Amino acid sequence: MLKAMALCKCPICTQGDMFKTPATNLKHFNELKTSCEVCGFMFMPEPGFYQISLFFTYAVGVAIFIVFWAATYWLLNDPPLWIYYWSISIPAVISAPWNLRYSKVIMLYLFGGVWDKGN
Ligand SMILES: [Zn+2]
Repeated sequence: MLKAMALCKCPICTQGDMFKTPATNLKHFNELKTSCEVCGFMFMPEPGFYQISLFFTYAVGVAIFIVFWAATYWLLNDPPLWIYYWSISIPAVISAPWNLRYSKVIMLYLFGGVWDKGN
């Protein structure tokens, strides 16, 4: 199940892809397929379902901030403020597509009715 989450696969059959394109496609990286092409599971349980995933996006963003702040503090021995700015904002921007995608994956796995189907 964790491997399927990491690979953004369907939570029911763990085979079908949830997203239309890879995360490196910056124009369409966050577009979900309507349903799983293997088992037919609907990736959009109800309208607006993924709006709550912004909380997961925020939590992951804060985690990235803390990790890179701590790494900058200890590895560079508390450098000037502008180095903190760049050492945190660059990883946050680069990881944004994965952050948004995994927020949707977490949302679907936790609240998409997956556990009601016997998994
Ligand atoms: Zn499936």
